[in-house]
Amino acid sequence: MPYAEVAVNAAAPIRQTFTYRIPEGMAVAAGQAVYVPFGARTLQGIVAEVTAEPRYQDARDIEAVIDERPLITPERVALAAWLSDYYLAPLFDCFSLMLPPGFKRRPQTLLQTAFWAEGAPAELSDAERAVLDALSGHEAVESEELKRALKGLRGAARAIGSLVRRGLLARSYRLARPAVQPKVVPTVTLRSTEDDARRRADEFREDGGRGLLRRAVLLDALAEEGSLPLSRARALGLTPAALRDFEADGLVLVEDVTVVRDPLAGREYARREPPALTPDQQRAVDAIIAALDRQGEDERRAFLLHGITGSGKTEVYLAAIDHAAARGRRAIVLVPEISLTPQTVRRFGERFPGEVAVMHSGLSLGEHFDMWHAVRDGRYRIVIGPRGALFAPQPDLGLVIIDEEHEWTYKQQEGSPRYHARRAAEELCRRMGAALVLGSATPDVETHFRASAKAYTLLELPQRLVRSDGGVREAPLPEVEVVDLREELKAGNRSIFSRSLARAMREALDAGEQVMLFLNRRGAASFLQCRDCGHVPECKSCAVALTYHEDEMPGGGRLVCHYCHRRYTPPATCPQCGGARLRQVGIGTERVEEAARREFPGVRTLRWDRDVTRGRDQHEAILARFLAHEADVLVGTQMIAKGLDIPAVTLVGVISADIALHLPDFRAGERTFQLLEQVAGRAGRGPKGGRVIVQTYTPDHYAIEAMAAHDYHALYAREIENRRSLGYPPFGRLVRLTYSHTGADYAYKQTVAMARRLREECARLGRPNVDVLGPSPAYVPRIRGRWRWNVIIRGDDPAAILPDEALPRGWAVDVDPVSVL
Ligand code: ADP
Ligand code: ZN
Repeated sequence: MPYAEVAVNAAAPIRQTFTYRIPEGMAVAAGQAVYVPFGARTLQGIVAEVTAEPRYQDARDIEAVIDERPLITPERVALAAWLSDYYLAPLFDCFSLMLPPGFKRRPQTLLQTAFWAEGAPAELSDAERAVLDALSGHEAVESEELKRALKGLRGAARAIGSLVRRGLLARSYRLARPAVQPKVVPTVTLRSTEDDARRRADEFREDGGRGLLRRAVLLDALAEEGSLPLSRARALGLTPAALRDFEADGLVLVEDVTVVRDPLAGREYARREPPALTPDQQRAVDAIIAALDRQGEDERRAFLLHGITGSGKTEVYLAAIDHAAARGRRAIVLVPEISLTPQTVRRFGERFPGEVAVMHSGLSLGEHFDMWHAVRDGRYRIVIGPRGALFAPQPDLGLVIIDEEHEWTYKQQEGSPRYHARRAAEELCRRMGAALVLGSATPDVETHFRASAKAYTLLELPQRLVRSDGGVREAPLPEVEVVDLREELKAGNRSIFSRSLARAMREALDAGEQVMLFLNRRGAASFLQCRDCGHVPECKSCAVALTYHEDEMPGGGRLVCHYCHRRYTPPATCPQCGGARLRQVGIGTERVEEAARREFPGVRTLRWDRDVTRGRDQHEAILARFLAHEADVLVGTQMIAKGLDIPAVTLVGVISADIALHLPDFRAGERTFQLLEQVAGRAGRGPKGGRVIVQTYTPDHYAIEAMAAHDYHALYAREIENRRSLGYPPFGRLVRLTYSHTGADYAYKQTVAMARRLREECARLGRPNVDVLGPSPAYVPRIRGRWRWNVIIRGDDPAAILPDEALPRGWAVDVDPVSVL
């Protein structure tokens, strides 16, 4: 079949593929990386499909294959096509998720003066003259580089264009150098036997002499290790002469060895034997394994593992992986955020030492590159990572596990494609005949709905497990007390801590137990406000109040924009009315930590939020210190809600439950419930049990009532009714279009025009089940200087009224957005 449909790595958002002819004798398959001509350039492309007939008549030839072996397997090629269709994203962007790191090479334009341009035509504009001057004396210069050199020159682009047209400048194209290569280390390898090497070493030693002694040391080291990096051999005293002699004697060989840059290298996990499973756990594992053993594509293999916090879900994952491995199948495990779940990574590492690969964006490009290739070669039984790890080239995939499946981090919310890992995993597993396990204590309402509609098989772990003398026993979930903060104010208590929480903290600390305090807002105060006119300082480029941070810098706080990270010195007087009474309003984690130290003298505190975890291993360091009981109180944002298992924590205090509750979003109640239930789940994981105190101004909100009773089903019933009456997911689907532009007026008008066009299209196609909402300003109406407006399409098939090609510049499309904000 002589034609190929190719997704091209062009900078523009192109949804469709291009047709190329496969030249005689070139082997090309779907998933292969190729070079193709594109206009005057050569670009990288991925073959989506090989066809007998051309879809476009004047097809040009593929120039060359980049890699003999297709980079992407057929099932994943099909998954990319699905992603592109479903998420309305360019196909190449979808392939990009699956390509080796550093694969993409930027197309570059080179400019060079034609040799006769030197001292040539008089009739040049100033700009044209400046361009020629900048290039004179150089070989070809990359156009971006030239523009930088001409910084600020007006009309530079036009001048270049005109010079090219007049033949005074020559333009050519190339691809930027690859950003990463395999790491190759020259290595000295022993060729003779170990015994032989030792014998020779002894001979050298007997002969004596400094140089010979050094040779003896080297041979001993080689006998011990088999091979040494050349640099280390040199450090041990290997001279060029000695190396020549060794080589001549057939003792050693110097060769280039490719080494794997493994981020887990140096972490030795001691293997931990699996515990005996409880009957509930065993039932869940059996169901998953049975699904793997059934043949055929349509067998249902997706599971919702609904287990309360601490019910032993992780043990189910581990056992399922073990069984899958016995059948020659490998696994991918997704976690919400890898740095926040060091304990989970450790548990996988301890059960399968040396067989776990981690993949995430915190790796260096080299590590990432090497892990990708090692995974593709089948070196690891398990790949573990955040959402993007779903696209790791794990062969013989039998099992995909998504832990804490309700987490919003599984949705890509920027760039393209804006996929949800859960949805994508379903599609991948179906194509690979793999089982999918979605685990959560607080399943996404949509996931649970799908389970009740039998699209997923529901597996339940209703009992919390606590380790006790070598075995395990069932334990109740921690008791929750809801404190009405209005009552505290009435009673004259102005502390951050209600009387109940203060008493409970005192008791826990006196008993030598640990406490976690949760507040979903970092910083000291939430904002500054003028007492006289009410003015709140906002970020200059984002329409959002600035957050006050105390320990930003010695000698005074800073105002920080949490969207663009810009920092400001707090004004001394109100910029609006000139008044001097600027006050800090609201609280953040910094203030909570400070209050704990003040009200409980001598208490040792630790804080865990974005502000204190800038480095790569900071999370683990804080966790280790708290586990070692170097602190009594851990104060944190939602980072402390995820999966931590710290048995000495007997009390969890929620400083304010209300922060996420009043967002104007239909998922606000669900979100609040999930967050609080997860935080609460950190208490009482040890033999002493535990309790939770939740402070709120709205104690009778359904989400808080459901959480206080640990009643997921009450929350679910309420949410499902709301969604049904409003046509929100799972009853209808949403597509959110966001337009952003620096001109406030322009942005608004574009959005109005788009909404009108969509309504007309809706009417034209006769789609009563689709409606268009908006335009409405985004929740943060301006970010980094760009105004943002949303249009929401709601209905059974909202994408149907959108055009087939990519949207115009400035528009971003989000299919199934996690929020309508
Ligand atoms: P989850 O993932 O649901 O939060 P975990 O798997 O972390 O629950 O289990 C909670 C605790 O109980 C962990 O300390 C775990 O080691 C322990 N555990 C779970 N299942 C068993 C079992 N069958 N036997 C012994 N200990 C268990
Ligand atoms: Zn900002």
